[in-house]
Amino acid sequence: MEFNLSFAQLGHLLSGYGNAAAVAVLPLIILAIVLEIVVIQARREHYPWKGSILSATIAGGHLVAQALTNGLIIGVIAAAAYHWRLFTIPISKQNWPLLIVLFLLADLAFYFEHRCSHRIRFMWASHSVHHTVERMVLTAAFRLAWTPLVSGVFLFYLPVVWLGFAPEWVFGMASASLTYQIFIHTELVPRVGWLESIVNTPSAHRVHHASNVEYLDRNFGAVLLIWDHLFGTYQAERPEIASTFGLTHPRTSSNPIVIAYEEFWAMFADAIRSKRLDYIVRAPGWKP
Ligand SMILES: [Zn+2]
Ligand SMILES: [Zn+2]
Repeated sequence: MEFNLSFAQLGHLLSGYGNAAAVAVLPLIILAIVLEIVVIQARREHYPWKGSILSATIAGGHLVAQALTNGLIIGVIAAAAYHWRLFTIPISKQNWPLLIVLFLLADLAFYFEHRCSHRIRFMWASHSVHHTVERMVLTAAFRLAWTPLVSGVFLFYLPVVWLGFAPEWVFGMASASLTYQIFIHTELVPRVGWLESIVNTPSAHRVHHASNVEYLDRNFGAVLLIWDHLFGTYQAERPEIASTFGLTHPRTSSNPIVIAYEEFWAMFADAIRSKRLDYIVRAPGWKP
């Protein structure tokens, strides 16, 4: 297959606040999922069909929520941040190295966004949906929150926009990064040597999804893992530990609506019962 993209096409591909990058590599994603099913079946192991269908259903809700909020609200806020930008940093064929700078900034923004999503309860209420998967298969990547606006995840990218990168490039880069992350949700790929210390890998992401105490709140990186090394949150997969995927408490329902909002109810119930708003901004599991 010939891969001949002009720079303008690449810009178009990365543009939009949706899943442009995922759509562009859709055949590759489908091929990888089919291959994973074939390998798991050939090994006479159990493929989590129910979990995969649930992930696909939750992905549908995520796309609807995204369509409702991204263009209308997040897009407008991002456009405002760009309007009052500090500099104008135009990305073009001539100054392509700026794309590397943007990649690093967007990757760093994801690291902080993801770390906060695990350490601040109202952000965790959204992100916990992704952590309800009990098997690491590629489709697990699609289990995403229905509350993109409430989670405030987009706020972490606004400084990059405010600096002077156009919103379509910033959110396009974020979309490309999420697309890369689809491929690290698998149990079939073992550790990959020295690469483990630089980029996010299936092994590193299995650690992130495991609820074993040794693995909690580790490996927050998107494409690069250098941020985890830098900020002390890296954990290598240990062969002596059998990973248990999912939340630290058992999932109570297979209803996508319950999964999407369950942690919000739990958070508000804690806050109302104890009359303390701390519950909303403190870490998950915090008690007075
Ligand atoms: Zn996470
Ligand atoms: Zn994941």
